[in-house]
This record gives sequence, C-alpha cells and structure tokens, in this order.
Amino acid sequence: MSESIGLFVFIPFCKIKCTYCDFNVYANLARLMEPYAEAVAREITNHKLQITNAHSLYFGGGTPSLMPIASIEKILRALQNSFSLVSHPEITIEANPGNVDADQLRALRSLGINRLSLGVQSFDDAMLRRLNRGHTVADALQTFDSARRSGFDNLSLDFIYGLPLQSLDDWRATLERALALSPEHLSLYALKVEEGTGLEHQIKRGKYPKPDDDLEADMYELAEEMLDAAGYRQYEISNWARKIPTSNLQSSISNLQSRHNLTYWRNEPYFGFGAGAHSCFGGERFWNVLSPQEYIQRVERGESGVAGREQINRELEMAETMLLGLRLNEGIEFEKFAQRYGEDAREKYSRELREIRELGLVEISEARVRLTPRGRLLSNEVFWRFLP
Ligand code: SF4
Repeated sequence: MSESIGLFVFIPFCKIKCTYCDFNVYANLARLMEPYAEAVAREITNHKLQITNAHSLYFGGGTPSLMPIASIEKILRALQNSFSLVSHPEITIEANPGNVDADQLRALRSLGINRLSLGVQSFDDAMLRRLNRGHTVADALQTFDSARRSGFDNLSLDFIYGLPLQSLDDWRATLERALALSPEHLSLYALKVEEGTGLEHQIKRGKYPKPDDDLEADMYELAEEMLDAAGYRQYEISNWARKIPTSNLQSSISNLQSRHNLTYWRNEPYFGFGAGAHSCFGGERFWNVLSPQEYIQRVERGESGVAGREQINRELEMAETMLLGLRLNEGIEFEKFAQRYGEDAREKYSRELREIRELGLVEISEARVRLTPRGRLLSNEVFWRFLP
C-alpha cells in the first residue's frame, strides 16, 4: 500500500500557562509525565490501523520538550515498532525557549528527531512577560544557538502578532531579529483572544485594548513583504519556508515545508495519540478524552481512549478538502480533486467560486483556484461558504 499517514503525539504538560492559551494543557502535572508516556506507548502499540506507512511524526503540545528524554524515547520506539516510516521521515518536536538545554537537544537529535519547532512568540521581553511566557529573548537566542550546535538543521520558529500594546514597529523589530537567525521555517499567527483565558479577562477589565483588525492586517502584509524579501516562500496562510536549504544540511531535506502540517491542509489521513488527540481516518474523525488522568486510567485498564466520533460523509470531506486546500498557496488543483472524488470542483462549487472571485478573494486558472493576497487577509470570508 503506497498511502501513508501523519502521526501526532500530544503532550499536555507546560511549565506555566500563557495568558492567551486555551489548549488542553496543564502546569504542575510533571508527576504524570512518565505514566503518560507509558500510556501513549501502549495506545500506539495497540492501534488497529490498516495503514501502517507513515511519512511524519510530530510531538506537539503543550511543551513536549519538558518530557524526560527516556519518555520521548519510549514513545518514539513504540511508533517506530508499530509503523513503517518512509526513508527520511520528518520527525518534529515542539519546544519552548529556556525549557530545553544543550544536552537534551543533543539527546533528542540523536534519537532521530530532525526538526525542532520553537515557540518564540516575540523578541520583546516586556511582551513575553505580559503573555506569561516564562522565558526571555535571551533564552530564545540561547536555545536557538544550542539547537544549531546540537545538529538541528531544520528549525522552525513560531511568532504571534497583534499582541497587547504591540505596534507595527515592535512587530517589525521582532521579524528583523527572527530573520537574522535564518531559520528554515517560520509560522506567524494572529493573536486570537479565546474565551475564558486570562487575556480575555484582562481585555474585559480594560487592562489591554481589544485586538485591532486593521493593525493586524498591516502586520500580516509587513510580514509577507519582509519574508519574501529575505528569501522565504509563503506556502500557507500562516507558514513560510526558506526557498533554498543551506548547503550544510545533515538531514536529507529537499523541501523545508512542514510535511506533517501539509497532511492536515491536504485533508490526508492522520492519527493522533494522547489526551485529547484527534484522528481523521477512513471516513471518520475521532478524538480521545481530554483529561490526562482519565486517559492514563483508561489505557491502563486496556480500554480505548476515544471519547467521541464523527462520520465524515463524502459531501463534508469534499468541502473540507476545498477549505483546507485553499489555505495553501498551491490552492486546489482541479485535476487532483477530480481524481480523488470523481467530480469537477468548478461545477460542484460553481456558485461559491463565482462569489469569491467577484469579491477578489480567489484567482481561478485552467489548473487551480487559489487565494489572492486579499483572500489571505479575509480567508474566513472564503471558508464558511464551502461548509455544507
Ligand atoms: S507554552 Fe504553548 S501550550 Fe503551553 S501554555 Fe503556553 S501557549 Fe499554551
């Protein structure tokens, strides 16, 4: 079987909770790390998937780099024993600056992890304190340097824009410092104020103003300009990869885009392990219980960790392929869509495509439909139209 999947492991532990975060993550649960790793390894070993070829492994969270190396190794070995990995699989781990030292980075690299995604978020210490990030700019620079010295030649940095009291000049300064490091990959996200977070309370109390959509749009356009000028190719609404890999790459990287995240955007099958992890496979989406304690107990009892399922019928799958694929700069290729579903996307979605083209949000050629720069700024105006 030539089909392959992306494998995701969710690690729900963080040192402290950032003010904007509404993820299923917990500070002060370090005592659960080892039993959690045991449970994840057991869930992996007991999987009943028909597809066992995998092109990417991704340790996300949370802060996976907080886990003891032996725990990461246990999970990784379980994955390697249960799945056939393609040659040169992409194996990513997320880390936060200051949470991982040079010895740990060397150990992670020698386990075969070949991509590090570092949550830097800002190069402004006052901003990092405001967000309760628990690290400084100096920590970020030091972790980046340690990662390079440890042999990571595929480094991705995450940043957030539209932060409380952040000006366009502040954002420019952060981008300049990020580009000076010459990472292989950059992910830039607009701040979302999620319900029930500390940040939402701070904004409600008037400590910070509400995010300004116009300023965020200016920040996005500034990033597009600066990254393009610095030799990065945008391949997704929030993601850029360096056009030319460096010559001293130790891993066999021909393309610096995130293979794992492309799995989601191309609406390909993926499987997630761990508390709250989602999977999408065989016409079904399913997800595990959120609570790490309950997840561990269930797996220890030999029960499934799955808490819910949703059938994905063909209509929904096609719609999701459209709206996820439009996030990518490559857009939707009509021929590939027809091969996959036996339908012509131009006919099936003729009304939606006409509307968004008239609004200047997409461009449509013989071969494909893709967002225009204006469409990338107003992407939600595009996406909702495709949902059944
Ligand atoms: S480090 Fe990431 S996952 Fe952890 S609390 Fe902060 S934003 Fe949330």
